[in-house]
Amino acid sequence: MNPNTSERLVIIDLEATCWEPGRHKPSEMETIEIGAVLVDHATGNKLDEFNTFIRPVRYPILSDFCKKLTSISQGQIDSAPRFPEAFQRFLDWIYDRGNVILASWGAYDDKQLKQDCSFHGIDYPFHGRHLNLKKEFGKLHNGRKFGMKRALQLSGLTLEGQHHRGIDDARNIYRLYLWLRQHSQ
Ligand code: AMP
Ligand code: MG
Repeated sequence: MNPNTSERLVIIDLEATCWEPGRHKPSEMETIEIGAVLVDHATGNKLDEFNTFIRPVRYPILSDFCKKLTSISQGQIDSAPRFPEAFQRFLDWIYDRGNVILASWGAYDDKQLKQDCSFHGIDYPFHGRHLNLKKEFGKLHNGRKFGMKRALQLSGLTLEGQHHRGIDDARNIYRLYLWLRQHSQ
């Protein structure tokens, strides 16, 4: 990770429709929450936060499994915009603030956003502009990969907020990003 840059990072964490293992394919998952923290990569300062729920199309009724995992309710989803509108709001929030790269814990969020864009016929604007913070963390741990919860533990940080809620996960990943800045190089 090279923080000596004028870029801004958008640390995102998505929640998506999900079911008991084996019930549906990953290709059928849709984003139901975008949580994001905008960061000045040069200083590490948090500039702003963004959060939206999204109403899925394929399976608009959340499974009990998904509600339990994410603590997101059916009511929060029913009153939310569909992906194209929510994603446009997310982009407007970003583009007001200049050129950014996306960052997340692992490859999943980048992949899921691409999948949602493809499903809704929207151009994906972040091709080649993704920083995998899990990989960066792995570089400081002999290449081993850790989930966010374990990475927080290893870094002496407590998990704040509700695990598997996009905005809380994004805030915790931002704290790991600060740890990485301190310990890289
Ligand atoms: P996370 O950022 O770890 O909260 O996970 C993002 C999304 O991945 C969740 O909203 C679920 O759709 C899916 N997911 C995460 N963990 C699990 C799990 N144990 N079983 C099934 N799906 C999961
Ligand atoms: Mg999450």
